[in-house]
Amino acid sequence: MLHLNDQSLLRTRAFVAGSWVEEPELGEFSVFNPADDKVLASVANTGPKTANTAIEKAVVAMEGWKRRTAKDRAHILRKWFDLILTNAEDLALIMTAEQGKPLAESQAEIRYAASFVEWFAEEGKRAYGDVIPAHAPDLRLLTLKQPVGVVAAITPWNFPSAMITRKAAPALAAGCALVIKPAAETPLSALALAELAHRAGFPDGLINVVVGTDAVGIGGVLSGHPQVRKLTFTGSTRVGKLLMAQCAATVKKTSMELGGNAPFIIFDDADLRAAVAGVMASKFRNAGQTCISANRILVQEGIYPDFVRELTRAVKALRLGDGRDPDTDIGPLIDGAALDNVDSLVRNALDGGAMAMAGGQASVLGGQFYEPTVLVDVTPEMRVFREEIFGPVAPVVRFSSEADAIAMANDTSAGLASYIYTQNVSRIFHMADVLDYGMVGINEGMISTEVAPFGGMKESGVGREGSKYGIDDYLEIKYLCIRGG
Ligand code: NAP
Repeated sequence: MLHLNDQSLLRTRAFVAGSWVEEPELGEFSVFNPADDKVLASVANTGPKTANTAIEKAVVAMEGWKRRTAKDRAHILRKWFDLILTNAEDLALIMTAEQGKPLAESQAEIRYAASFVEWFAEEGKRAYGDVIPAHAPDLRLLTLKQPVGVVAAITPWNFPSAMITRKAAPALAAGCALVIKPAAETPLSALALAELAHRAGFPDGLINVVVGTDAVGIGGVLSGHPQVRKLTFTGSTRVGKLLMAQCAATVKKTSMELGGNAPFIIFDDADLRAAVAGVMASKFRNAGQTCISANRILVQEGIYPDFVRELTRAVKALRLGDGRDPDTDIGPLIDGAALDNVDSLVRNALDGGAMAMAGGQASVLGGQFYEPTVLVDVTPEMRVFREEIFGPVAPVVRFSSEADAIAMANDTSAGLASYIYTQNVSRIFHMADVLDYGMVGINEGMISTEVAPFGGMKESGVGREGSKYGIDDYLEIKYLCIRGG
């Protein structure tokens, strides 16, 4: 049993039209703590029927909401923001319990999640239209921005709160209603946010959360229902492509935040200490289960030996354990399948000639704990270079020239985050130009913030979240052509 300051944040039913609901015929599903595999909660298993009801209720709720002033909407969003921060300790406890990340990381994610609510409460007031110089003397041309319609949001387990608010806050600020389907591994964080939204005063039906294990069935309703006008998804590239195809039948707008394969390029002239610190932050946060994690660490030959020595030293000092223990740096992976996948990538690299300088296997702690790992002599043929690792494994690849580094970095269908470490200013601008990535960290490994646009190129996604651009994904531009006047 999870003990919270406010036990009523632990919700275990779906949230539809302001009520906590279930589908008794579908029973319940268990939510596990990945650190000890113990059952944390039994949650109502809801499915397509609840998803349909939630959409109908959202359609009705949106009618009133979109007519309110942006300032009025901002007022309620601001209350939600305050409530999230007031309850940050409990929200972080829920997150660590169901997701496994260290408590300090959960607390940071709650602040990050809240930051989107505060940001978009303000941005909603600035959804300006235009007055366009007309092409004829007796015409006046204007544009208005209007909410896109009911939004469906499907979110992953790796950032169970921030991936919800990064979508919900701009949608609500724009005047949309929302149906959220969180990952089945982490429904409790989503339901706690819904409880706080209810307390903040959002009208019933405006925010709905459908929880259940039938992702295909629920996803089918959310992507197929004609009254859902926008689907926003964060998750794997495989499922993102499937949802885009399903959305085509009703020509829904989509925003897709999909998988990455981030190159982290360290040149000979880099500040060694900063580069190691950048890799540690980017690679090992959330046990490497982050879409913008350094996935391939490309190191120029001059700095390679020193870098490998210092990185290995830092990785060996990491403490693996239960996220609730304040001494823990790295928690467990989300489940057994995730651990098997990480281990098979490491085995493939070792079989192909790579060497483990640290880790290289599952931990003696058992369960879903994997040893923080450094692999050297990695080559582009290995799976660990080509696939998203989603685990605490740092593959290091040697390169000689800048051109080699660029070719290797861009040799992937992904295009989310990339990183470069160098002191050379002209190289910084050249690399920023030629890397086919939506985001470039330059001498910095932690790039996420609500004020900057997050998103990917190529198969990493469509659209941008956060920043002044993030609300555009939830607005339609309407053009008015007025004769006379
Ligand atoms: P996933 O398997 O794609 O799951 C994501 C969400 O989609 C979950 O809610 C899941 O539900 C649901 N889902 C699964 N199959 C579905 C289907 N057929 N129809 C509709 N919904 C479906 O991804 P994941 O393993 O949870 O998350 C890891 C991935 O997310 C990584 O590739 C990572 O890079 C990516 N990610 C990207 C970003 C970004 O901003 N670009 C951020 C974070 C993560 P169930 O859990 O119930 O199966």
